[in-house]
Amino acid sequence: MTALEIAKRIKNREISVEEVVLEAIRKAEGDSCNAFITVCESEQVINRAREVQARIDSGELDGSALAGVPIAIKDNICTKGIRTTCGSKMLENYIPSYSATVVEKLDEAGLVIIGKTNMDEFGMGSTTETSFFGPVLNPNDSTRVAGGSSGGSAAAVAAGIVPIALGSDTGGSIRQPAAHCGVMGLKPTYGTVSRYGLVAYASSMDQIGPIATDEDDLIALYDIIKGPDKKDSTSVSIEDGNKEIKELKIGRFEDLDFKLLDYAVPAYYIIACSEASSNLARFDGVKYGFRASEYDNLRDMYDKTFDEGFGEEVKRRIRLGEFTLSHGFYDQYYLKACKVRRLIHDEFKKAFEKYDVILMPTTTGIAPKLGELSSDPISMYKSDLYTVPINLVGLPALSLPCDNKDGLPIGVQLVGDHFSEKMLLRTAGAIR
Ligand code: GLN
Repeated sequence: MTALEIAKRIKNREISVEEVVLEAIRKAEGDSCNAFITVCESEQVINRAREVQARIDSGELDGSALAGVPIAIKDNICTKGIRTTCGSKMLENYIPSYSATVVEKLDEAGLVIIGKTNMDEFGMGSTTETSFFGPVLNPNDSTRVAGGSSGGSAAAVAAGIVPIALGSDTGGSIRQPAAHCGVMGLKPTYGTVSRYGLVAYASSMDQIGPIATDEDDLIALYDIIKGPDKKDSTSVSIEDGNKEIKELKIGRFEDLDFKLLDYAVPAYYIIACSEASSNLARFDGVKYGFRASEYDNLRDMYDKTFDEGFGEEVKRRIRLGEFTLSHGFYDQYYLKACKVRRLIHDEFKKAFEKYDVILMPTTTGIAPKLGELSSDPISMYKSDLYTVPINLVGLPALSLPCDNKDGLPIGVQLVGDHFSEKMLLRTAGAIR
């Protein structure tokens, strides 16, 4: 059942919120994909379900399309009172004292969070293998990865544990696992969904978005989480970019003259690592999170905390980012990457003068075997070829299943101009 169907049945009193969420909890506890880092306590979830049921019964939630629906949340989105690890040893025991804005919006709309999903450590990866909690297995083939970094959210939806989930996408982390698992994922226009309470990886590209099995669920969930937020100064009120279109023009990526595609991956990794080195400096063992247990002095405490608290990939990226931002190299790397970013922006804007939607691959291949990419970081970065250009420019894009190879799903990506997510979702519905 889709999320909208579940909500309808709850509204018609065919099933209760409690029944629905307990079923989801039961499935999450029996999950063999390692999609969850934390499954919420049944007692906590039952209390919440009863509260929501009362609000539904009183008519308070009549305006909410997804009232009573169970949802899973990527573990880099803060949930008050529920452990939020970012897939890292650094935050293994971190329980936030506040909720992200998107979580507050879900609460208001009467959705029930049943667990926090597995992810690449701090969102850094394309296979969920950099998680401190082990990789997520692809629900279609357990010898393969589910994609990443929102591998847990995509797998939880694909495995039918929850009908919808939230992921985050800095360079493809919603669309790519959605493609590998055979579900749909939307990376919204940068700024349309508040990042308050999303643990920062690369702030100029991070964006929260929905994962679901069809476009109607995606729209319903996106409508709940979007909107400006005083707590996120980069959030914007939605300007309607969904112009009236008589004849939709879809441009095939191969037919477009994207001269700068080869530079997108290097520019992305320079910018992402630079921002990460600054954002992750807060995990120093002083304020919160992990601290090495044995050390000689303050300097030694910083070093050992860094060394023991972070995984290999995160350490590599922080060091790389410190280098690209350092005096003497800043102009050569960071500044140059910013210029490339602007030029890629101009290329997309030119394409949108001719086309309403661009159709392109989501991934460079089917879901890799476990271990295939994790042993070779450069090929892992290269596999992000089709997703990272979108984040550099802040465009909306969605991935939908389009084919199968050897029983494994293949996704295709629809990209639109800024603020055109409704048009993208309608297009997806028409071509599916
Ligand atoms: N694979 C990309 C990276 O490792 C994208 C990850 C993401 O979107 N969070 O940076």
